[in-house]
Amino acid sequence: MLNDSTIAGDSSSLLHDSFDREHLWHPYTSTINPLPTYKVDSASGVRIRLADGRELIDGMSSWWCVIHGYNHPRLNAAASHQLGKMSHVMFGGLTHEPAIELGRRLLEVAPPSMHNIFYADSGSVAVEVALKMAVQAMVSKTGDHSRTNFVTIRSGYHGDTWNAMSVCDPVTGMHGAFGPSLPVRYFAPAPTVKPGEEWDQADFSPLEQIVEQHHSELAGLILEPVVQGAGGMRFYHPEYLRQARRLCDRYGIYLIFDEIATGFWRTGRFFAWEHAGVEPDIMCIGKGLTAGYLTMSAVLTTAEVADTISRGEAGVMMHGPTFMANPLACAIALESLAMLREQDMAARVGHLEERLKELLAPAEGMPGVREVRVLGSIGVIEMEEPVNVAEFQKECVKRGIWVRPFGRNVYIMPPYPISDDDLATLAKETINCIRQ
Ligand code: PMP
Repeated sequence: MLNDSTIAGDSSSLLHDSFDREHLWHPYTSTINPLPTYKVDSASGVRIRLADGRELIDGMSSWWCVIHGYNHPRLNAAASHQLGKMSHVMFGGLTHEPAIELGRRLLEVAPPSMHNIFYADSGSVAVEVALKMAVQAMVSKTGDHSRTNFVTIRSGYHGDTWNAMSVCDPVTGMHGAFGPSLPVRYFAPAPTVKPGEEWDQADFSPLEQIVEQHHSELAGLILEPVVQGAGGMRFYHPEYLRQARRLCDRYGIYLIFDEIATGFWRTGRFFAWEHAGVEPDIMCIGKGLTAGYLTMSAVLTTAEVADTISRGEAGVMMHGPTFMANPLACAIALESLAMLREQDMAARVGHLEERLKELLAPAEGMPGVREVRVLGSIGVIEMEEPVNVAEFQKECVKRGIWVRPFGRNVYIMPPYPISDDDLATLAKETINCIRQ
């Protein structure tokens, strides 16, 4: 997927900028043979307007984050209002209303046991912070400096920074490129029982065995609840999480939920832990937090974890980024949360789920299609073979939609306000691109 060749016959200079191609690194790109990039002039609602004037219906929410659509008047107003006061101020020794109010509002929607909030810069940094929290708390709790490792499940994705990479799937992640420079983690097979299927305890046994055997080295278990995102777009049974909670309790290790992709209603619940009804000790959120306006994440934890860290050797949480609790990002996040509160989001995402199931059903049984699955506002068409991204996207743009597959997965997860007509076009044209 990463080495796909460039496309032929779509070389409008308006769309494909030569400086960009020559000098700018895009995510996971070759500088020798980069995938094409399409120049965007503006975006509004669920439409991305290209520099040549064409409009695309957005099926990606810009990688999960643009939950209310682009260029939203309310979010723009919240940003302008905050800009008029201050864009940023350091969080060391200072505080401000947007951070305080956002914290208050986040605790209203978080698992009830969450008590302390650490604002961070991005999803990957949130994962780093969560892992650091678990290590600091474990060492403080046990006095045992060897309980610093982690266990996770295969097909996961947790970000691109060092420790986040180390807990990503070793095959679809970046273990190959970074090899022994990465800390070595324990990996259980990815869960196989899907939501709605009959639970099979055998699915959980391998993780149980690893923890039984290695708990004396472990600080925590990290996983994405119910939906594994960029590691494979896989959905799994919530019972796995209930079992995971019990296992962590049995051995006194911390349970970390990475809700960076699953949060803010994407799976049909505010957060995906709600499908299972079990709470983590530490939880990462990001992406939809600022509705796609600015990069910001947060790590939430229990008073027990926070206070255990504070009673430890360092006496403090050892992290403190420059842009921590950036007021502009907090103000936008607050407005986004208000917008979510004012809508019946369960009904909204429930509707999207029903529509996606109907609209993607024609892809089932198509040549080359392995499986079609839908959960919340996420629709996945898994192919038998990896998709040629350049060719696929060329076809998408021709048909007026924006969908970016990875590996074998063609998936759509539009901004929530998408109309039924736009969703129908998006799904139909996605299937046409596959057919093509
Ligand atoms: N965790 C999960 C589950 C993610 O999906 C992502 C981003 N795709 C990250 C962490 C990393 O977030 P970011 O790209 O903001 O660093």
